[in-house]
Amino acid sequence: MEKRKAVLIILDGVGDRANPQLNYKTPLQYARTPNLDNIARKSVVGLMDSIAPGIRAGSDTSHLNILGYDPYRVYTGRGPFEAAGLDMDLEPGDIAFRCNFATVDDDMVVIDRRAGRIKEGTDELLKDIDRMVIEDVKIFVKPGVEHRAALVLRGPGLSPEVSDVDPHDTGLKIHDAKPLSAEAEKTARILNEFVKRAHEILKEHPVNKKREKEGKKPANIILPRGAGMVPHLKSFTEKNGLKAACVVGTPLIRGICKLAGITPIEVPGATGGYDTDMVAKMDAVLENLRDYDFILVNIKATDIAGHDMQPLKKVEVIERIDEAIGHLSENIPDNVVLILTADHSTPCTVGDHSGDPVPIMIYASDTRREGEAFNEISVLRGSLRILASDLIDIVKNHTNRAEKFGA
Ligand code: ZN
Ligand code: ZN
Repeated sequence: MEKRKAVLIILDGVGDRANPQLNYKTPLQYARTPNLDNIARKSVVGLMDSIAPGIRAGSDTSHLNILGYDPYRVYTGRGPFEAAGLDMDLEPGDIAFRCNFATVDDDMVVIDRRAGRIKEGTDELLKDIDRMVIEDVKIFVKPGVEHRAALVLRGPGLSPEVSDVDPHDTGLKIHDAKPLSAEAEKTARILNEFVKRAHEILKEHPVNKKREKEGKKPANIILPRGAGMVPHLKSFTEKNGLKAACVVGTPLIRGICKLAGITPIEVPGATGGYDTDMVAKMDAVLENLRDYDFILVNIKATDIAGHDMQPLKKVEVIERIDEAIGHLSENIPDNVVLILTADHSTPCTVGDHSGDPVPIMIYASDTRREGEAFNEISVLRGSLRILASDLIDIVKNHTNRAEKFGA
């Protein structure tokens, strides 16, 4: 039996509902997708629930489930995955947060949650704050894109059960982090002390003095949110015997992959936005198939169009994806298993993730040929009705890597 490789392409939030602007078709039904449909005709097809029927999944919990990690066991918040996505060194048990640089007035009321969308100088601003020690807890901070950053607390007796400091709106006073359980009192105390000390340093910082002189808003506070404990994830490669890489633009998904021991492949032009270079992503897949058995690709633009409630934009993004997939399928060796699906639905009528199941198709040279087109309705003629947690076993079957149960 020839062992095959696999490419799993996740069209983030591509699943949708009947849209009045599209004659009550879904964007996938409405879009012209000759290449996706061509693959569907040679694939097993059906629907997948990212967590379980009706459950509205985040991108993080759904990707964990797709990769075979039970989100109910390993997920306590988004922070650790954001921090891992910024290449911070993490240890299981660390407590991590996502943060914004923001602007507060003298009464600690938030004037701007993004500090005037600060673009430069955040690494300079964090220099005197990174590696702060409070009590017996070491604190690490690292800047992300623009106003974003991540924060990590490392030490004994910490808990992720603390509320956000970020009030999530302007005109409000910053919140005190509150312990949500008795075990979290120390964490809340240290977090509040950190925010206070960081504010003292930031408000006098030369970078901010210069910003103020230029009429820009100072990045004079760090607002943590989304606390989570860094989980111990058994390496995906070891668990499944598949040497794995990923091509992803968004730090959150990149972080999940990193914590699962999946190697990120850097692709210039892969932004995680509307302007992402999809063909470049496919080329990265083709180039790296020599070295890896399993490559995960995430394309985020479909989800953004769903959040923006722009069905025609979503159609346009899907048609661009179709072209990129055409490029991929023309050049990919025929012994590679190709899986296309989504991590959840992001209906344009909702503007957020929903619990509607997502279409899935799995192509291998000898899969049963079930499909007709790649959309939520056409795939109903196929045999699949699965949970995301089943997916890796199904992939292992089609790559001829599944172990036989019994004699
Ligand atoms: Zn998503
Ligand atoms: Zn989303």
